[in-house]
Amino acid sequence: MSTIYTGPVFEMAKNQFNSVADYLGIAEGHRDRLLYPKRAITISCPIHMDSGETVVFQGYRVQHHLTLGPTKGGTRFAPNVDIGEVSALAIWMSWKCALAGLPYGGAKGGVTVDTHSLSKRELESLSRRYMQEMIPFVGPHIDVMAPDMGTNEQVMAWFMDTYSMYQGRTVNEIVTGKPVSSGGTEGRREATGLGVAHLVARAMERLQMKPREATAIIQGFGNVGSYAALELAQQGVKIIGVSDHTACYFDRKGFDVDALVAYASRHGSLKGFSSEALFDPNQLLVQPCDILIPAAVERVIDADVATRLNCRILAEAANGPTTPEADAVLEHRRNEIFVIPDILCNSGGVIVSYFEWVQDLQQLFWKREEVITRLKGLLDDAFHRVMARVERDEVAHRVAAMAIGVDKVAQAKATRGLFP
Ligand code: GLU
Repeated sequence: MSTIYTGPVFEMAKNQFNSVADYLGIAEGHRDRLLYPKRAITISCPIHMDSGETVVFQGYRVQHHLTLGPTKGGTRFAPNVDIGEVSALAIWMSWKCALAGLPYGGAKGGVTVDTHSLSKRELESLSRRYMQEMIPFVGPHIDVMAPDMGTNEQVMAWFMDTYSMYQGRTVNEIVTGKPVSSGGTEGRREATGLGVAHLVARAMERLQMKPREATAIIQGFGNVGSYAALELAQQGVKIIGVSDHTACYFDRKGFDVDALVAYASRHGSLKGFSSEALFDPNQLLVQPCDILIPAAVERVIDADVATRLNCRILAEAANGPTTPEADAVLEHRRNEIFVIPDILCNSGGVIVSYFEWVQDLQQLFWKREEVITRLKGLLDDAFHRVMARVERDEVAHRVAAMAIGVDKVAQAKATRGLFP
């Protein structure tokens, strides 16, 4: 099948899928139906810039499969967003939702834009225009958006407001990750980072490691990295390395995470936090530590980095941080490095998004404690199912996690049949 789906990130999602399909024994003839997105929408978003010019931004939304319910996934505003990357991210969302037991197919959207170059008014115009262009293709029972890199609660509030104004009523359930004051749920903001830290704690239990003796390095200090750092520090883990797109710091003595988070929220980034602890970002991932958390972009761990990794637990908070070539290296190092694969590791975000959608549909809101208890319950279920499969079939953690997701979608397609 010749397709528009190309590029290194899509190739990665495809290679991973084929390895899992080989392991599951899925026939060649059934693979394209499972892998290729059902729908891919490309839009042009013209907006008035502050200068008076009109600029057109390219936007995308990919809905991977419609077999288990509406599609679900974030919206990414970043300079390198393209249809191949968004499609790969939508495919990963499918396996992630199925592994967590959520009644969704995967989706992802994005706009090719550097948000740092926009004023707040321009960002609002672009967010509203993107949602307005998507109105024919989304809905609370069709496709539900959420935040991702470059978007946040404020952007979700603009999405929800724009959709609602066109409907003539408030439709909270059209997006998740909204502010609590606008139909959001308690616990969503910290859900992904908290989930990462919870699964790291589960991995430490299995490896008989003590949090108070452990060190962690975190690449990426946005919504995910910062909350993971706070939660790990609470468990007693020492954070010895952090970075974002502006700065990288390393100090064996450990950082005051509250100070890092306060600095980043005041200044918008980590730039200028410390002059003594500045470090080469290209060397951060290979420094000795117990827990390594890539929480930024895709493909930062290639075969070369994988050979030089010096950690005991690799917790993939980002989507797609590890290439298939790196996976081959990690397979040889399986007794040294315990991988918590992305679709499990960062699933706390979409799990609490699901809780937000359920609460919005029912107009019945839960306390934070209930959200967090249910979140941990679903994470523990998924973690135990992955580990049971690893032990039963002696496969890599990623293969086991993806296989549970792919298998669920494949079985649902098989029992529903092909119609018309
Ligand atoms: N963007 C997040 C992810 O990659 C969250 C998606 C959601 O909450 O729907 O999992």
